Amino acid sequence: MRSLYEATQKIYPRSVHGIFAKWRWIMVVITQLVFYGLPWLEWGQRQAVLFDLGARRFYIFGLVLYPQDFIYLTAILVISAFSLFLFTAVAGRLWCGYACPQTVYSEIFMWVERKIEGDRTARIKLDDANMSTEKLFKKWYKHIVWLTISMWTGFTFVGYFTPIHDLGMSFFLGNMSSWEVFWVFFYAFATYGNAGFMREQVCKYMCPYARFQSAMFDKDTLIVTYDAERGEPRGARSKKSDPAALGLGSCVDCSLCVQVCPTGIDIRQGLQYECIGCGACADVCDTVMDKVGYPRGLVKYSTENAMKNHWTSEQTMRHVFRPRVLLYIIILLVVVAALLTSLGLRKPFKVDVERDRASLARIVSGGNIENVYRLQIMNAAERPLDFRLNVQGLPNLSLVTARDVRVASTESLWVLVRLQLPYDSAPAGSHPIVFTIHSVNEGGQVLSELQEKSVFLVPR
Ligand code: SF4
Ligand code: SF4
Repeated sequence: MRSLYEATQKIYPRSVHGIFAKWRWIMVVITQLVFYGLPWLEWGQRQAVLFDLGARRFYIFGLVLYPQDFIYLTAILVISAFSLFLFTAVAGRLWCGYACPQTVYSEIFMWVERKIEGDRTARIKLDDANMSTEKLFKKWYKHIVWLTISMWTGFTFVGYFTPIHDLGMSFFLGNMSSWEVFWVFFYAFATYGNAGFMREQVCKYMCPYARFQSAMFDKDTLIVTYDAERGEPRGARSKKSDPAALGLGSCVDCSLCVQVCPTGIDIRQGLQYECIGCGACADVCDTVMDKVGYPRGLVKYSTENAMKNHWTSEQTMRHVFRPRVLLYIIILLVVVAALLTSLGLRKPFKVDVERDRASLARIVSGGNIENVYRLQIMNAAERPLDFRLNVQGLPNLSLVTARDVRVASTESLWVLVRLQLPYDSAPAGSHPIVFTIHSVNEGGQVLSELQEKSVFLVPR
């Protein structure tokens, strides 16, 4: 029976050196230093970056965020989206080729594979060979290193959500919670599977970004391009021969650009959706050009317009920074500035007011009408804060519960507040009122204030 799916051809990418490979490794080092290192950083008495879902607190260095600070997450998502639009408009799949975790972990796993099993030819030979002690040893060794990296990655990931020192202790004592065990192993399994086995399949079949990237490309987007005008007709030749006399272009048809490609495509067939823009083919082709003594750049980052109009690099770059790109830069700067300003002006506390659902309004002794509220005061500072509560909105409205409240460092406190109004002071109905919450110092001096609106109900 005919299969509905194409059989997967295993890809054995050849190692490559060059400027783009160097940049990819720089990105690997930077991203991994940040990812593995951040959870171990301390800030005062706590982990510098911790998303404590149980306590509903997010600690990012000096910032303590509550779920109510969702707006900042929205701003970060907007910044991420516009950065992606910007990078893609400038240089296509820059994210895919240099910073995407799939690329970064595949690069690390391939490096391990190369160190243990050798480069492309040695790996093909090893896979074709019958099982032997050497083959068994190399395969086991590689998988053990891969699994160690994967487990460490899973452990680090969970360390962003639960204090990593405690997690490490629980890991070694074998008393991690079931959720921690699940997420460590799930993330480790995903890393091992995606970077060790699925690799380019993730980019080709699973990643949605590969599908909609073309919508963000235009004729002035830098993409890895083969200069067909210069390269064709391709063909092998001796180093000393004159290609013009042989009627050949610059491509010596060595197929090295295909051998280094992590997605196994031939860039000489033009732009293909599988291309992650990693520049490996450009690097290897430059080394081939150096060897045969031709100018570099047969495969290079260029734009469709630059290739068609034979622009110089300066002309190309002038067109790359086109109005669309400048607009993305302006939007990005505005959103970043708004986020920073908002964080800078942020009050060190938050307040939510809820009416007590159990008793909307009642008559109490002394002929007063009483409404009950629950105030949640969230201290986002890393020291205890004192608060003074006030209410305005109706004449003779008084607060009969304690006005002064202390909330411990980074804690949130529910405070029951009772307001009373003499009977006949206001007509029946709902009256807008405003709670004013002052943060005060030990001498009672106001440091900052917040206002929250609510209503006072007067029954008929
Ligand atoms: S590496 Fe360069 S010269 Fe070799 S086949 Fe590819 S494009 Fe042609
Ligand atoms: S074609 Fe070149 S740039 Fe595209 S994925 Fe393959 S090696 Fe990377």
